[in-house]
Amino acid sequence: PKTAVVGPLVGAVVQGTDSTHFTVFNSKTAELLSHHQVELTQEFPKEGWVEQDPKEILQSVYECIEKTCEKLQELSIDISNIKAIGVSNQRETTVIWDKLTGEPLYNAVVWLDLRTQSTVETLSKKIPGNNNFVKSKTGLPLSTYFSAVKLRWILNNVRKVQKAVEEGRALFGTIDSWLIWSLTGGVNGGIHCTDVTNASRTMLFNIHSLEWDKKLCNFFEIPMDILPNVWSSSEIYGQVKTGVLEGVPISGCLGDQSAALVGQMCFQEGQAKNTYGTGCFLLCNTGHKCVFSEHGLLTTVAYKLGKDKPVCYALEGSVAIAGAVIRWLRDNLGIIKTSEESEKLAKEVGTSYGCYFIPAFSGLYAPYWEPTARGIICGLTQFTNKSHIAFAALEAICFQTREILDAMNHDCGIPLSHLQVDGGMTNNKVLMQLQADILHIPVIKASMPETTALGAAMAAGAAEGVDVWSLKPEDLPMVMMERFEPQIKATESEVRYSTWKKAVKKSMGWVT
Ligand code: ADP
Repeated sequence: PKTAVVGPLVGAVVQGTDSTHFTVFNSKTAELLSHHQVELTQEFPKEGWVEQDPKEILQSVYECIEKTCEKLQELSIDISNIKAIGVSNQRETTVIWDKLTGEPLYNAVVWLDLRTQSTVETLSKKIPGNNNFVKSKTGLPLSTYFSAVKLRWILNNVRKVQKAVEEGRALFGTIDSWLIWSLTGGVNGGIHCTDVTNASRTMLFNIHSLEWDKKLCNFFEIPMDILPNVWSSSEIYGQVKTGVLEGVPISGCLGDQSAALVGQMCFQEGQAKNTYGTGCFLLCNTGHKCVFSEHGLLTTVAYKLGKDKPVCYALEGSVAIAGAVIRWLRDNLGIIKTSEESEKLAKEVGTSYGCYFIPAFSGLYAPYWEPTARGIICGLTQFTNKSHIAFAALEAICFQTREILDAMNHDCGIPLSHLQVDGGMTNNKVLMQLQADILHIPVIKASMPETTALGAAMAAGAAEGVDVWSLKPEDLPMVMMERFEPQIKATESEVRYSTWKKAVKKSMGWVT
């Protein structure tokens, strides 16, 4: 039974690559009161292409909001207590739509999409001055990952979009912008905005001045009038115009990885978290300083929790494929029926028997940034079966995190003594134990798994003066944690890690 609700409630939309969620928290206790999740379609129209339907995404948000509110009503909780909602989203995914009809002009090009490889090659040949031009302004390497190149590709290739831009009808946004514009009225006065964290992933945003950068827009040939207004992560952007939450202010917006950092309370310099979803993202708060990596990490805006609040930055290690490899085992190979089943299979064997799986489906991101890499499964024998492959897939996620953690430790100078984790995959205990073994430090999982939602709700609550989040950290449900200690010898993890590195080399240079 739920505790009696006395205070205001705050909701959070979490729009991920794999699914959409809506969650409502009690603002007095940060207790999760109601939740609904809908899995999304991913389209792979050509090799290397990954798309989603912006309308399906929007529809999933409305559905999650409605179902979550129905569940609240079943608990006899009055939904008029919801005082604010926050939005957190998959980052970089690029949407372009018609402001007069409200219709998307093309499918959303998902962050994982590789179609822009030749666009990146062409652009990298014309970088002005030194090679640092893009990185010094944005903190990002020129890669297929970020929105600017996806937008460039769409503008080059989709006639309908070119026409709409010429006629002044086109709007660009990452998923947060598309959702906020639609939820706040769409063609009837929708607010076209984004926050600094999402803007920092477009490759058009100057992370020092916190503005769209004219020189970058010239370089990528992006018309600035299609870009959204950039605001802080915690302020009132507008009100929901339709549905059960009509009139409720949207007052928080954060890219999903920033939201998880906030939800895990990593507010101090040096605090870090790793989120296991479709991809895997380790972020370390570097305070008010922009730290540039020497080891393949990104510099990104962590959050700015209010118009007048200072900005905080993070170093980020991005792994493209984590949960996506499990979804691939399910959808492409059909060796599991559900993602959860990967745990059962891996547990049955407890080893990969020398099988290594490099899931470089989208090239390799950090720390390699190697677009020529492709996935390989190696070390197979007659003995290998699907359980070993499932084990190797889970272990791959742990090795990729190890590579990021090593890079982070080198850049920060102070090794992390433990790893705080969250995300859909952390329900997999075999994965968590493997991670502790391979890193050889404790892995600590928040018992309240919806940390991304909590972060977005905290940002939204703060802007609305909902005084929830002034709770002391020890009062929060987050302190109930699950700990995984390393259970193998350090020498054994080193041997496995060095074999992994050997396999990584084999995956590189596959495409030229
Ligand atoms: P996203 O934020 O990218 O939408 P989620 O945090 O919802 O992702 O996690 C979903 C991903 O995690 C999917 O790719 C799914 O295959 C994987 N996943 C979820 N639960 C498990 C599990 N128990 N074991 C292994 N993988 C899982």
